Amino acid sequence: MKPLILLDPGHGGIINNIYQTPGKRSPIWSNGSQLFEGEFNRAITQGISQILTLHGIENKIIVPEREDISLQTRVNRANHLAFQYPNHRCVLISVHANAGGGSGFEIYTSRGQTHSDIIADHLTRAFRHEFPNKPLRSDYSDGDSDKECDFYILRKTKMAAVLTENFFMDNEIECCLILMQPQGRQKIIDYHVQGILAWVQGGK
Ligand SMILES: [Zn+2]
Repeated sequence: MKPLILLDPGHGGIINNIYQTPGKRSPIWSNGSQLFEGEFNRAITQGISQILTLHGIENKIIVPEREDISLQTRVNRANHLAFQYPNHRCVLISVHANAGGGSGFEIYTSRGQTHSDIIADHLTRAFRHEFPNKPLRSDYSDGDSDKECDFYILRKTKMAAVLTENFFMDNEIECCLILMQPQGRQKIIDYHVQGILAWVQGGK
């Protein structure tokens, strides 16, 4: 079956200098810079989408708007697209940056052993390859490299679904040296693409 990649940029973007999702932002750093998570998430999903398209892999960004679209609408859009593409192997990837103190990468899948774990393992391996010196925050209690979580988007979508938390926007080094830098963003885009390509090539 042909793959269909659904990309979900978390939260809202910036419209007329107004950020659409209060709270989801970094502190203002000493050089005056600040990251808005929804802007970052959009830049990453757009980059992933462009490269997947170059590889001939069907993909959709389920939130093309810069407004913050409700989780319920995001889930409805994803499930509707999966319904419209019945003969496709469908996966949803929700892209975020982390906060709350910490460093490195986390990935969440829907609870239990599902085919979401397969794409999560590919993404984890690709992250390790792209960022060999950055921590992977893992919970191996169920034998998988992902942490399980009841995130709404993961619970309510009908296809395989994962959520990547890409570094910590409240960690000054990660925010200023990776998340706000074009090279850092490109590496984050690249590991997603490599993980997706590995999943596509791996068959079901
Ligand atoms: Zn987020």
